Amino acid sequence: MIKGFRGTSLVDFPEKVSAVIYTYGCNYRCPFCYNIELVLTENYKDLPDIPDEEILTNLSQRKGFIQGVVITGGEPTLWGKRLHYLIERIKYEIGLAIKVDTNGSNPELLERFLQENLLDYVALDFKTSPSRYPELGGDFSRVSETLRVLKNHPEKVEIRITLYPPLFNGRDLEEMLPFLEGFQIIALQKYLPEKNLSGRGVSPYSEEEYLNFFTVLQNHLPTARILKRF
Ligand code: SF4
Repeated sequence: MIKGFRGTSLVDFPEKVSAVIYTYGCNYRCPFCYNIELVLTENYKDLPDIPDEEILTNLSQRKGFIQGVVITGGEPTLWGKRLHYLIERIKYEIGLAIKVDTNGSNPELLERFLQENLLDYVALDFKTSPSRYPELGGDFSRVSETLRVLKNHPEKVEIRITLYPPLFNGRDLEEMLPFLEGFQIIALQKYLPEKNLSGRGVSPYSEEEYLNFFTVLQNHLPTARILKRF
């Protein structure tokens, strides 16, 4: 399940020093994905698996210095029960806060985690307008269900939007806006043209274009905190 581990991060978990666990495999194919080595079989098949026990030991040793653990991927929720067990052990045996990064394709698992109070923070990538999810290999009805589940816990949720021009324009944003209502934290992220699955050669938006999207969001969602990550 785990192919990568970073012992210390100051940027992946809001207001917490954290460790980061990287799971492999993903059911989406976002052209702007920059975790290529965890998404394509030919890239991750030769990476060694890191045993869960080794991670747990490492986290125990770091306790006191870190306050949380971020589980990212790939798509962590593909690991279902095994992920559930790992989170339970980190939360209750070691006592660290948990953040999960997800594409939102497994609403049932996230709902269960939230009902069991296993998650302290969730970052959901809202990738494009609902009608364009098939272009990523995704099914928006699943993401829509996840958004519904997460809306019951807005204080724990950050919605992230990567501004990748071929999949995000003014019309896409318009289609996405109704689904963003009720969320408190929305982060607009820069698309990184240097390293990604298949988006090389696509120029990112200009600073001015980023700011225009920021302003549209701010005007539409005046009570939300819109974070500029560009
Ligand atoms: S960006 Fe996330 S959801 Fe998309 S392919 Fe990469 S790991 Fe999967």
